Amino acid sequence: MAREFSKVAVVGLGTMGAGIVEVFARNGIDVVAVEVDEAAVDRGRGVLQHSTARAVARGKLSEQDQQALHARVRFTSSLDELADCQLVVEAVPEHLDLKREIFGKLDAIVGPEAILATNTSSLSVTEIAVATSNPKRVVGMHFFNPAPVLQFVEVIRTVLTEDEVFEDVKALALRLGKQPVIVGDKAGFIANALLFGYLNHAVSMFESRYASREDIDAAMRLGCGYPMGPLALMDLIGLDTAYEILDTMYKQGRNRLHAPSPVIKQLVSAGLKGRKSGRGFYTYAEPGSSQVVEDALTPRPAADSDRSLPEVRRVGVVGSGTMATGIIEVFAKAGLDVVYVTRGQPKVDAVTAAVGTSLEKAVQRGRLDQVARDQALAHLAGTTALDALSDVDLVVEAVVEDLAVKRALFENLDEICRPGAILATTTSSLPVVECAAATSRPQDVVGMHFFNPAQVMRLVEVVHTVSTSADVVATIQDLCTAVGKHPVTCGDRSGFIVNALLFPYLNDAVKMLEANYATADAIDTAMKTGCGLPMGPFELLDVVGLDVALAIQRELYLEFREPGFAPAPLLEHLVTAGYLGRKTGRGFRTYA
Ligand code: NAD
Repeated sequence: MAREFSKVAVVGLGTMGAGIVEVFARNGIDVVAVEVDEAAVDRGRGVLQHSTARAVARGKLSEQDQQALHARVRFTSSLDELADCQLVVEAVPEHLDLKREIFGKLDAIVGPEAILATNTSSLSVTEIAVATSNPKRVVGMHFFNPAPVLQFVEVIRTVLTEDEVFEDVKALALRLGKQPVIVGDKAGFIANALLFGYLNHAVSMFESRYASREDIDAAMRLGCGYPMGPLALMDLIGLDTAYEILDTMYKQGRNRLHAPSPVIKQLVSAGLKGRKSGRGFYTYAEPGSSQVVEDALTPRPAADSDRSLPEVRRVGVVGSGTMATGIIEVFAKAGLDVVYVTRGQPKVDAVTAAVGTSLEKAVQRGRLDQVARDQALAHLAGTTALDALSDVDLVVEAVVEDLAVKRALFENLDEICRPGAILATTTSSLPVVECAAATSRPQDVVGMHFFNPAQVMRLVEVVHTVSTSADVVATIQDLCTAVGKHPVTCGDRSGFIVNALLFPYLNDAVKMLEANYATADAIDTAMKTGCGLPMGPFELLDVVGLDVALAIQRELYLEFREPGFAPAPLLEHLVTAGYLGRKTGRGFRTYA
């Protein structure tokens, strides 16, 4: 029988602590909430009041329950009041010495049966435990931010933790409505170990001006369905906390990808710790607010926006596959004339039929009216002759992902298309500059990386090479907006924004599985429930295809020569064995 907790304590009422107090009190448990001094106590009380008031306003909590909740919480600035608590959760800043000092004190204050838990994200729970006289009763209880919302808790078991202790904590997490996963004491546990490499990589993209903060964040929200972009998430986590987590992970694993990007330290030193201080990567209306306000980095329409950009009215699309078909539909629906070129008349007919079927489905779902459908179809002209592209304003190429084929096509387009026409490639992994170099007009060559299905996904990565003219980039951005897409702009590096951030994270998940630190189910749960991602890494890998993931990861490794990007051997082996994911019925999981 797991023990019943009726009185607990939370030490530290910052970003995490205040939320953890709310979780306990909501579930009928009395809480003693501790801060350093009266001012900090008031701040903690304020956060709790604000949060429960919001829940009431949203109809998620009755006023009566709100009062009962507050009646269960006693605030204090003295640890001595914790003598009769059955569990203490510590949530003070991520510094080992501070945590060890507090655990040493708690050890002398609470009763012999009480459990001591740390909410540390990355520090060694074992090192904290050995600062007490009874390390057997020390565990990690790692909540996720915001604690009242995210339904996941990592329970960290050290080599010393007593079975009964982590079993009781696990049962308590379930009672709190959280899904617990028990893991060993390794820096970053499951979720942060996978999340922070990705976050740090996003920061380095921003720091090197590879893409703007808005574009990096939009790319991950729209390209991967993440609830927040990485830089906005860093601000929510707190940059001081993020720095400490990365630093600890780096010191434990010596993985260069975890070495905190220098700008994080600069922001922290300047007191710009993210939302809690009103400014981090973004600027907020006030400290603690989630409302982003304009600042010096906010993109504004260019001062010379009245310069006339070439208008795109007639578009050519080359190719007949999934991407080409989707892109043709997008342009035609937006009222552009589309000439598409395929190899052979049967493919011309197949594309016409596919676009027709897709538009018909949209009509049936009430997303498009019949007039609009007919108009879109009237804009389409299919052919097998590239010469038909002589008068278009833009060509989008979506043929096979093979550099020789693409280069030959660009050579032809260069001869056929009128001067000034823009030539775009949809490549996901080849250097755009290779296509540009095959033409006599590299300034007019650009990448337009759509996401699958192009009709649905709003994101387009607009890729400029070292040669692309600023006007061409601006024209393509405007065009994307005009056809209902969200353009983000980045340089011509392998993986652009989305794949460069996504695939190393997926690869890290495979390495974690390979190291037997956690199961695929536990890892998927951690990333979905703890980080709010739409799919766990193994679910996603099986959908994407392990061969596709491996090919992208190899490209990234080749381009950056980053040891941490080397494909996980397990991924290589599964691909060799023909276990490619859902499409073959077996990948990380087996499908019926
Ligand atoms: P924070 O800086 O927002 O809050 C820490 C609070 O602890 C502050 O209010 C501070 O006044 C208080 N404090 C400092 N010394 C104290 C003491 N001696 N006694 C009582 N209170 C004291 O930090 P945070 O983001 O809430 O992080 C707290 C812990 O939770 C860290 O270990 C962190 O790694 C972990 N964590 C953070 C997140 C996150 O997203 N921020 C998520 C999960 C876990």
